[in-house]
Amino acid sequence: MKLSAMQGQYQKQSPLTSAHIAQTMTLLYMTSAELLQKIDVELSKNPALELVRERRCPMCGRKLPESGPCPVCSQPKTLDPDEMIVFISPRDDFYAYPGSSGASYADDMPEDPYSASNLDLPTYVLSQVAPELEEEERPIAAMILTNLDEDGLLAVDVQEISRFHHASTEEVETVLKKIQRCDPLGVAARTVQEALLAQVEVLSESTPVPEFVRRAIADEFDLLSKRQYSELAKKLGATVQKVKLVSHYISDNLNPFPARANWGNFRQPNDNTPEVFHHPDVLIYYLNNKPGNPLVIEIITPSRGTLRLSPMFKKALKEQHGEQQEEWKKDLDKASLLIKCIQQRNNTMRQLMELLAGIQKSYIIHGDTHLKPLTRAEIAEKVGVHESTISRAVANKTVQLPNKKIIPMSTFFDRSLAVRAILRNIVANENHALNDTEIRQSLEERGISVARRTVAKYRSMEGILPAHLRRIEKFATA
Ligand SMILES: [Zn+2]
Repeated sequence: MKLSAMQGQYQKQSPLTSAHIAQTMTLLYMTSAELLQKIDVELSKNPALELVRERRCPMCGRKLPESGPCPVCSQPKTLDPDEMIVFISPRDDFYAYPGSSGASYADDMPEDPYSASNLDLPTYVLSQVAPELEEEERPIAAMILTNLDEDGLLAVDVQEISRFHHASTEEVETVLKKIQRCDPLGVAARTVQEALLAQVEVLSESTPVPEFVRRAIADEFDLLSKRQYSELAKKLGATVQKVKLVSHYISDNLNPFPARANWGNFRQPNDNTPEVFHHPDVLIYYLNNKPGNPLVIEIITPSRGTLRLSPMFKKALKEQHGEQQEEWKKDLDKASLLIKCIQQRNNTMRQLMELLAGIQKSYIIHGDTHLKPLTRAEIAEKVGVHESTISRAVANKTVQLPNKKIIPMSTFFDRSLAVRAILRNIVANENHALNDTEIRQSLEERGISVARRTVAKYRSMEGILPAHLRRIEKFATA
């Protein structure tokens, strides 16, 4: 029988208790930042648990210098460029002082994960609009920004906001207008139409906007969407040629889905996950940050030193009697369990990442289309644990890739990602606006079999307009 990683090296010492399993599961589910908090809480309430300043490598036990990773475990063992270096890295400064540049890691530390480019959309927009807001407008702005859908459009009624804040709808609209002028332009619009109009308004302040653009969007949006140019021209009192110019301008300059535009220096992950990622749990980079070098997989374990059982407490325990001794013994057991479970968590994370990075290496290096189909169950079988263990280890975790993009760890299991990337490619190279059936056929020719409805879903996940709208965008003069 295969020994599970849950049992791993501790199996030999003592049989696993259900408390052990339960706690390891809980710890696995936590992000590094949450684990750090958990440890702090335990330290404050359990006298048997002690933190010594001394740093030790969680993998080889070697005593470490004041800062930095293990000089042995973080280095390649061979000269083979295909080798990956997977190690557990105890980082204290990483989470404790988010503002500081962390002098100790200055050389090998990947780009500051706290930089503004990693802000989430609401925070990013709020930072721009804040100086424009009156005191009483702030809570209204906050409610607007926390109710954006994945496209960056407002997902709540203005009436509801006004009722909630006892403000008039005019007041809410005023705040809404201010927000829509922020980058990405048109954010918090109620409809695609409103988003486009907000963009036109701001653009027109600095550059001339062709005649009829505003009116076409404002008054004849339906005809515009359906590409009924002659009808549209008639309604606007313009030539068909001018109307085509209008649709060209729209496709080149405007974005119907503000959140899917580039904003800040950061594009939101295209996976419908609302979470925002500030602290990666795993860093993947090339050794010495040089492409072509072996990949380094650095798994962060939070640490401000080394956790151990307090020798003083153990000694004092022996001098206790009866009930008192029983109480203290419980503390000691709890502390010992926590230390073991943290090691177990590290161990599972290491095995998981080693496998994931091995299987998805080509995705890590070359991007979306190279993602291999993979299930949590397959990994679980390879590690020798239950699928739920892998699910917990993957949940809530984030990984920073060599290109500095931070992705949810679950992306490694995203079956749709590669297909979506290919779909993106098909649309980028289309010579007429392919409808979903045609896209489905095109995927089929590449050996990918999906339903038409799935094509529509993936298309919208990628922020690609349906064919009848793309026709206006891309092929207006065709
Ligand atoms: Zn080591």
